[in-house]
Amino acid sequence: MRPEDILLPTPAGVCCKRGGFHIDPTRPVERALITHAHSDHARAGHGAVLATQETLDIMRLRYGDNFAGSTQVIGYGESINLGGAKVTFHPAGHVLGSAQIAVEADGLRVVASGDYKNIPDPTCAPFALVPCDVFITEATFALPVFRHGDPDAEIAKLLHSVTLFPERAHLVGAYSLGKAQRVIALLRKAGYCAPIYLHGAMESITRYYESRGIALGELRLVRGADKASLTGTITICPPSALSDLWTRRFPEPLAAFASGWMRVRARARQQGVSLPLVISDHADWDGLTTTIAATGAREIWVTHGQEDALVHWCTMRGLKARPLDIVGYGDEDESDDQVEGGADE
Ligand SMILES: [Zn+2]
Ligand SMILES: [Zn+2]
Repeated sequence: MRPEDILLPTPAGVCCKRGGFHIDPTRPVERALITHAHSDHARAGHGAVLATQETLDIMRLRYGDNFAGSTQVIGYGESINLGGAKVTFHPAGHVLGSAQIAVEADGLRVVASGDYKNIPDPTCAPFALVPCDVFITEATFALPVFRHGDPDAEIAKLLHSVTLFPERAHLVGAYSLGKAQRVIALLRKAGYCAPIYLHGAMESITRYYESRGIALGELRLVRGADKASLTGTITICPPSALSDLWTRRFPEPLAAFASGWMRVRARARQQGVSLPLVISDHADWDGLTTTIAATGAREIWVTHGQEDALVHWCTMRGLKARPLDIVGYGDEDESDDQVEGGADE
């Protein structure tokens, strides 16, 4: 029994032949198991979709009711049998509803972790460590230079700037699914209780988070607010809006950007960001390597990102490792985040 007999890497995503499904396929398939609702993992147009309630709800918000032929909900810790393969979903700690998918057959367990982070996030269930034989890991920040540090310290930087420049409006670029709500929750955790303003593209998903019991305090839409009333406020917007004419409605806008990429100074400068905030929903180098070691997996498959360094690290530790050349996974902070509702702002 080889792991490939359970999950076979294909250019369109990993495929379980006996179970008749793909995980996070990048092309339409008959049956898809989806780890989380970011658009590169969760695409519209599959026949049947199995995912957590939150992932299905967010896909519906983004793509409309007919995003799949049929849907089935699975909860964390729940297992189902698909053609002799036992499939179990476990929290991935990445965004609301995000899951790692464990597939077991003939005594061998393969875990497809999707995107994950192993640090606390007030807006989603914490990452669960699932011991396995083969661990499929992302590699978005898989270089030793990427160490994200403490998100609370980054939020403190933002609040310090707001105190320092009370006449300016702070705009925080943050991806609309996950990052935006996490930044708001971290601001509340830090004791910031003024209303927080939202770009229209953030509205539906943020309201959805609230409907799932995540308290985000008083939120207002930028749309309709007059310029003077935005003095001294914090607004969360898609990263692309930071370089948009849209910013003209704010008094002396100051651009911040919450992303793991903000560790790279040149990148922040290039994007005209004056306040880079290193806050990421992906594991950093230490998070990736610690997690890989803790799973006890003998074999590691590496997807989307800086595969080479992580494959090398695994090999040096005596683990079998290979990059999966799946085309189509990106990084949400890099992608165009105008999927829903942004155009009207
Ligand atoms: Zn993701
Ligand atoms: Zn991803």
